[in-house]
Amino acid sequence: MDTNNFTSWIEISQSAYFKNIDFFRSKMVPGTELSVVIKANGYGHGILEIAKMANEKEVKTFCVNSLEEALILSDNDFSQTIFILGPVMLSRIKTVVEKDFECVCYNRENLKEFQKEAFKQGKQAKIHLKIETGTNRQGIKERELDDFLDRLKETTDVELKGVYSHFANIEDTTDHSYAQKQIDSFEKSLNLIKSKGFKGFKVHFASSAAAAIFPRTHYDMIRLGISQYGLWSSKETYLTYISEHGHGREHILSPVLSWKTKIAQIKPAKKGEFVSYGCTRQVTRDTLIGVLPIGYSDGYDRKLSNQGYVLIHGKRAPVLGRVAMNLTMVDITDIPEAKLEDEVVLIGEQGEEIIRAENLAALTGTINYETVSRIAPHIPRMIV
Ligand SMILES: *Cc1c(COP(=O)(O)O)cnc(C)c1O
Repeated sequence: MDTNNFTSWIEISQSAYFKNIDFFRSKMVPGTELSVVIKANGYGHGILEIAKMANEKEVKTFCVNSLEEALILSDNDFSQTIFILGPVMLSRIKTVVEKDFECVCYNRENLKEFQKEAFKQGKQAKIHLKIETGTNRQGIKERELDDFLDRLKETTDVELKGVYSHFANIEDTTDHSYAQKQIDSFEKSLNLIKSKGFKGFKVHFASSAAAAIFPRTHYDMIRLGISQYGLWSSKETYLTYISEHGHGREHILSPVLSWKTKIAQIKPAKKGEFVSYGCTRQVTRDTLIGVLPIGYSDGYDRKLSNQGYVLIHGKRAPVLGRVAMNLTMVDITDIPEAKLEDEVVLIGEQGEEIIRAENLAALTGTINYETVSRIAPHIPRMIV
């Protein structure tokens, strides 16, 4: 793809992606499967671009949030197991069964619908039972489990493909006692499931943080989300990891995404003039302004107004005034070599400088997950 035509684009580094997958495979307990979580447009990286690279790395299971995401993958002829983690409305379970998607099951109502549809279509619905162990989010509680299993036992139209749960706070702390309680509760439920005669299902619990620092949670499969993209779940996870494994280069994840734009206009402003909406910024010297064709509707957060910076010729150019819907102004006075349509880095490396998703997350009061997943889907993604 010729980036000359684009006002903004995303580069996805295949070598970085492959390195991250290899890194996790080397950490995994032998016999464990690595599945990748590519919901939210592959955490903003592009669902199809990531699926393509994961396919080359022989990943066998793609986890998505919605039926719509599952359909994008099947419409593009991926032959992997597609596992839907998020809620599907009862009226659409028909499609889940038709397409042979695997899907979360967390209450009697959706179990009944899976059963009904599978019977009608003369096939088996494939469910993963989600056990609630401490998030009070999605999942079935211990006290409802016995009754649920009895109902599941009665039907041959529904196949129990997996049993899983999700950690509440592994990435938020270096104290893993709450996670341990979740594991204890999960194992109690597993014992009940096994005692009822269910077998042949996959057991899985670990997302990126647990995959990195808690090998005993790997069970049959890990669900690798954020860290396949080269980002740590949190500073705490990173610190826990390096305190056990050291700082060596082999322990560093490689960020996969770079986000770039270009200088669309260069404009001198006299000392005392104002920049952008709301006149929140008055320049205190004669200033050269670079106008960038990027704004909050593209996912460049409005909280970066007067706070963020971009890279031009390997130097930092601070954001001047408010980020608008489609335009952002930066100060290029100290980068005299900057020319019209020069490349600008919003996230990524240029020269000696790097802007990480974590840097923008810190400036906008959020986490790297949100920073990357909110980059608008209309921006072209390309694998480099
Ligand atoms: C999003 C998600 C994951 C991936 O979590 P990361 O922290 O990004 O690795 C795993 N499991 C479930 C159920 C999820 O919703």
